[in-house]
Amino acid sequence: MRGPEGANLAGLGAKVVLPRSRARSRGHARVRRPAIARPARAGTPAGPPPPPRTQTCYIPRVLPVDIVHRTQDHALVITWEDSSASEYPVAYLRGWCPCAECQGHSNIIKYRPAPRDTSIIELWEVGAYAIGFRFSDGHDKGIFRWTWLRDIRHEAVPTGPKTSRFVAGHYVADEDLH
Ligand SMILES: [Zn+2]
Repeated sequence: MRGPEGANLAGLGAKVVLPRSRARSRGHARVRRPAIARPARAGTPAGPPPPPRTQTCYIPRVLPVDIVHRTQDHALVITWEDSSASEYPVAYLRGWCPCAECQGHSNIIKYRPAPRDTSIIELWEVGAYAIGFRFSDGHDKGIFRWTWLRDIRHEAVPTGPKTSRFVAGHYVADEDLH
């Protein structure tokens, strides 16, 4: 099944070039909503207007500028706007699928090992904030946000959802290290 947006990019060593306009959004944006004066009730003096409300919405600090699906060795390579690049074995991505079916509804994030020959059948952008995959096992429920992909990249300090380590290029769950 294809996602709602984007083209079928699998099987071609596909390269996805994201528009530069996305790279302009940095940090977080603050949206200030104007104060709305409430009408005074009959018989009561109009009070001062309520204090202005602020609403803060966070967007990823680092966005991808280039994504390459390397089909020959089942890997996805993301180049970020800070010029760093992250390489994800497809089986590793499958193991970190963030969907509710894979993760359940608890607060504990789990890595679910997948066969090393897991491949991507199809991939697509999800809005401007994520990418979706259909893996070779047919699973396509995960919405991989850029922030999620930043958290699970190999180079990342394992303080986010990634709590285990890479040994000789392969992900090893903590319990297997002891
Ligand atoms: Zn999943």
